[in-house]
Amino acid sequence: MDSFIDPARVQALTARERKRFAAARPRSAELAARGAEHLLFGVPLHWMNDWGTPFALHVAEAQGARLTDADGHQLVDFCLGDTGAMFGHSPAPVVAALQAQAARGMTAMLASGDAAVVAQTLAQRFGLPRWQFAMTASDANRFLLRWLRAATGRPVLLVFNGCYHGTVDDVFVDLEDGRPVQRASLLGQVHELTRTTRVVEFNDLSALEAALAPGDVACVLAEPVMTNIGMVLPDPGFWEAATALIRRHGSLLVMDETHTLSSGPGGYARLHGLQPDALVLGKPLGGGMPCAAYGFSAELAARCEAAKRSAPPGHSGIGTTLTANLLAMAAMRATLTTLMTDAVYAPMIQRAGQLAEGLRAAIARHGLPWCVTQVGARAEFQFCARPPRNGTEAAAAMDDALEHLVHLALLNRGVLITPFHNMMLVCPDTTGADVARLLAAFDEVLHDLVAPDGPA
Ligand code: PMP
Repeated sequence: MDSFIDPARVQALTARERKRFAAARPRSAELAARGAEHLLFGVPLHWMNDWGTPFALHVAEAQGARLTDADGHQLVDFCLGDTGAMFGHSPAPVVAALQAQAARGMTAMLASGDAAVVAQTLAQRFGLPRWQFAMTASDANRFLLRWLRAATGRPVLLVFNGCYHGTVDDVFVDLEDGRPVQRASLLGQVHELTRTTRVVEFNDLSALEAALAPGDVACVLAEPVMTNIGMVLPDPGFWEAATALIRRHGSLLVMDETHTLSSGPGGYARLHGLQPDALVLGKPLGGGMPCAAYGFSAELAARCEAAKRSAPPGHSGIGTTLTANLLAMAAMRATLTTLMTDAVYAPMIQRAGQLAEGLRAAIARHGLPWCVTQVGARAEFQFCARPPRNGTEAAAAMDDALEHLVHLALLNRGVLITPFHNMMLVCPDTTGADVARLLAAFDEVLHDLVAPDGPA
């Protein structure tokens, strides 16, 4: 790819920023060294080493839009746990609900009074009448896939190239030179995924139609906007035409709204009048507590219930013991009723608009051929002049070395953005001053990258 940045300068600046990070963080270094004694890779989840920092950044506390690291530096958090904290860290209504519920039982493998309220609220907000729960969006996708294969009796899953839907084995099939291949980075995968997963490019209706034509596709699983390979927006009319094709071939449409919940209290599909048969919601649904939900149309729900009733009794392969526990249901009720509202979303989306505009202005000021895309409270800059139309184009615009540098340099200037690509999220507590701080840091980083007389 060509981000129009000199790789030698990226290397030199990265060395400078790594030194700066390490010098300011003796306590994080010490905690990382202690972690190395008994944790695999020194961290509780190996992804925590993927931030591009010389050693793992450790957190002391997080509140609202801010995070204090172990060395006492205050960071404005635009990563927000990669969306898990989209309503801010430890939002007061969720803390209160958790405190109240924690003293009255946390898990019982039984429903409480919250279950019906949560399901009713989900039905009203998202327009699907029946719901089930999971602890993570990964699990919700995995469970839904089982329901849909059982309900349709069809084996094949269809996904878009470059997608991510959590640690669901079935989705890790990519297009390489037009051919489906299993993602090589998957560890310990022994099944041949290409036998039951078909993959096409996003925004390609004729490829979609060809992939549906054999009549063996249980469902198309998709984010309404791709958000995990940078951002890829649907072409105008794409989803309407795709939905008609999916229906015509007797398949089902599952929209994974885990990230596009940034669009508003009913997600992207509701906002844009799309008609999925099933929906997956994860990450921020519990205000930071692990929980996820998935919804069914009335017709699909009836087919799923019939599939379960006609199966022999015993393990369904769906569910886990702590799923829909009392605490999780209390957290979802509080989040849905007090945070996932128009009144909370409106200022978030407006602030994200200021952020996106500011990023575009900085990019233009420094003459870079990069673009910015916004989906509600979420914005992303990409190292290409025009927004990509599919996963292949989006992947071509990625530049790991440059991305690491920009993220690390922003961190050293007091702002945190999401690792893996260039995503920023605004929460209800993000202020205009926070956005200005990010924009000033971004401007400084771009100056260092392109100034003819070298970095400041
Ligand atoms: N679906 C989408 C669209 C996601 O972006 C992610 C995580 N990035 C997931 C599912 C999985 O979420 P989790 O890791 O919380 O299971």
